[in-house]
Amino acid sequence: MKEIDWSNLSFGYIKTDYNVRCYYRNGAWGELELCSEETLNIHMAATCLHYGQEAFEGLKAYRGKDGKIRIFRPEANAERLQSTCNGILMPELPTEMFVEAVKKVVKANERFIPPYESGAALYIRPLLIGTGAQVGVHPANEYLFVIFVTPVGPYFKGGFSTNPYVIIREFDRAAPYGTGRFKVGGNYAASLHANKMAHDLGYSCEFYLDAKEKKYIDECGAANFFGIKDNTYITPKSSSILPSITNRSLMQLAEDLGIKVECRPIAEEELDTFEEAGACGTAAVISPIQRIDDLENKKSYVISKDGKPGPVCTKLYNKLRAIQYGDEPDTHNWVTVLD
Ligand SMILES: *Cc1c(COP(=O)(O)O)cnc(C)c1O
Repeated sequence: MKEIDWSNLSFGYIKTDYNVRCYYRNGAWGELELCSEETLNIHMAATCLHYGQEAFEGLKAYRGKDGKIRIFRPEANAERLQSTCNGILMPELPTEMFVEAVKKVVKANERFIPPYESGAALYIRPLLIGTGAQVGVHPANEYLFVIFVTPVGPYFKGGFSTNPYVIIREFDRAAPYGTGRFKVGGNYAASLHANKMAHDLGYSCEFYLDAKEKKYIDECGAANFFGIKDNTYITPKSSSILPSITNRSLMQLAEDLGIKVECRPIAEEELDTFEEAGACGTAAVISPIQRIDDLENKKSYVISKDGKPGPVCTKLYNKLRAIQYGDEPDTHNWVTVLD
């Protein structure tokens, strides 16, 4: 294999040795198979291609200072995938099978897990697709579950820093009782235009308000939002946002630090009152928000006056990363150590 430059990895696809696959046929899941083929051979009438029967997940494995490999909360991803399967009528994959598949694919690709010092990690991408042929709109009778992995670089190349966001009203990623709370590809297709608009305008990401009233905060691109004020961690309650495992973990860590946690609707105007805010997800853990511009209403909510990440964001970020890399004790039993 060509030497990988661990300290210069981006968030891109690098071929690894193996992926793991499992087929659902005749009403049952088969055995987990280790596969070295990168492509899938599926029927052209597969429901994933026409009717969006596609779900995915994202998590990471980290190499610690002690050389051990840690996988962060795979059971939580298994449960979220089950919820997504329920949402778009696909068969659920049992938690034990999901976790076993994750461990198997990580173990088989151990040489691609970046060294501790690089700050990089192994990104794990499970997907579940309807492969059965169907022309009418019905759920498929056959499915394929695949997990591939690829090494990814640290999100913050120049160090932990803030980013500007822009409110986009022309496109919604999800309707109030649509598929926003499920991790399906369709939500991403719906977000591509808004994401491009934000990038073209020089912002790091698009910011969504609720689709119905355009009054409350939903999500920042493909990450959850949280704001900090008066020693309180506040994150939106909405039927159209994806329940982020990073957000859930940060809420717990905030509580551990004696910070109050609120999950409730957040009106756009409240952005003016936050001392700090961040976008959170597996990719960055926390991406602190510098400001959020509302171009239509000629408003700019400046959150970080000095342009630097605030103390609470920094503390939460360091704490969660320390648990993921094994630098600090895993008091909540979040980490699966590979044996
Ligand atoms: C995956 C995802 C997130 C982040 O979830 P994590 O479990 O924290 O990685 C947030 N929003 C959307 C829309 C997502 O798809």
